[in-house]
Amino acid sequence: MMAMISEEEARAKILETVRPLPARKLSISKSLDFFAAEDHFARLPLPTFDNSAMDGYAVVASSCKKGQPLRVIGEQPAAVDRRLRISRGEAIRIFTGAPVPAGADAVVMQEDVARDGDEIVINTHVEAGEFIRRRGCDLAEGQMILAKGEQIGAATTALLASQGFAEAIVGGETNAAIISTGDELVKLGKKIKAGQIYDSNSALLGALLQRCGAVVKLVGHCRDERESLIEAIKRGSENHILIISGGVSVGEHDLVKDALRHLGAQIDIWRVAVKPGKPFLFAKIGTCTVFGLPGNPVSAFVTFLQFVRPAILKMMGSTNLNLPQVPAKLTVDLTNDSDRPHYIRGKIEHGNFTPIGRQESHALFGLSQSNALLRVAVGESFQAGMIVDVQIWD
Ligand code: AMP
Ligand code: MG
Repeated sequence: MMAMISEEEARAKILETVRPLPARKLSISKSLDFFAAEDHFARLPLPTFDNSAMDGYAVVASSCKKGQPLRVIGEQPAAVDRRLRISRGEAIRIFTGAPVPAGADAVVMQEDVARDGDEIVINTHVEAGEFIRRRGCDLAEGQMILAKGEQIGAATTALLASQGFAEAIVGGETNAAIISTGDELVKLGKKIKAGQIYDSNSALLGALLQRCGAVVKLVGHCRDERESLIEAIKRGSENHILIISGGVSVGEHDLVKDALRHLGAQIDIWRVAVKPGKPFLFAKIGTCTVFGLPGNPVSAFVTFLQFVRPAILKMMGSTNLNLPQVPAKLTVDLTNDSDRPHYIRGKIEHGNFTPIGRQESHALFGLSQSNALLRVAVGESFQAGMIVDVQIWD
């Protein structure tokens, strides 16, 4: 029998086994939420040229006096640079985003100007540099705009587009299969008989996979029967990852390990010191990474977030594999008297963390009301009012 290992050992083993998928080019419009597979650099400064921040008049600031007229010698729209040039005592009509004419060092808002034919009179004091957006003041040419391993957000897609990049170099997309095992499980839409339950883990795991960017290619259901399991696992293992729910405990009906061995799988981990989630299994069949999660919904949930999520993110090229953590004020006393680190499901609201629902591995309703996890180590005690770091998952 394999020894139970710590969470840290399990995570290290999983992450050393899992490799990033090959990088590829992806059009900017499809790149949202993928991870950069290379550093990306600016090839244009931003702004790309000195331009006007206002609709108004380009002027030489030192030649402007309140109430004194200036002669309008031309117009510079936001498009083609007309290569205009002005001298003292002159003004050029200009629009937002238009290149600043040579010799001009300020733009006066049209609201501060009275125009009469070819002349304007400025009703305000003009400061050099006013309303001019200088070339490169936002971003310098050659500056890094997206680091390898960083996730591409909405604003980053715009930044890449501002550089004229039609494509970004991103990591791969993880294909996943889900198999829920259990004779008691009934598919959605069918009637349940006494003793049966609906398969809720397929929905749970499908949603969690989508949240971390994986694509669910196959959702299968399988009885606790060796031959059917072997068939289902064979099909599922055509994907980058296969998640099997249930059947990994020690009961007579827990046949997943048997089926995996029959298929020549290398079982690296079985049983991790984590509460809930002890019967967690990790294996490899050929190039497919296999996760066996306990059937209890909260156990499946916790082990997915602690072990499967980081593996998927690593495959996709992310450098940040951890759930976001935030400090929160605990509203109750908590002690972990068990022999495993305990992930308490709770709700973080206005900076306070409160455990929610029954802290038992079958308690799906409480889980559905929570949005954060607090890890309490073995023997650790927290008092109400303490500031603790909680993991945010929703
Ligand atoms: P197992 O890990 O197969 O021993 O299952 C542990 C518990 O989780 C049992 O109460 C199962 O009925 C329940 N369970 C297993 N699979 C699912 C599923 N797909 N959806 C909901 N509950 C499940
Ligand atoms: Mg079962």
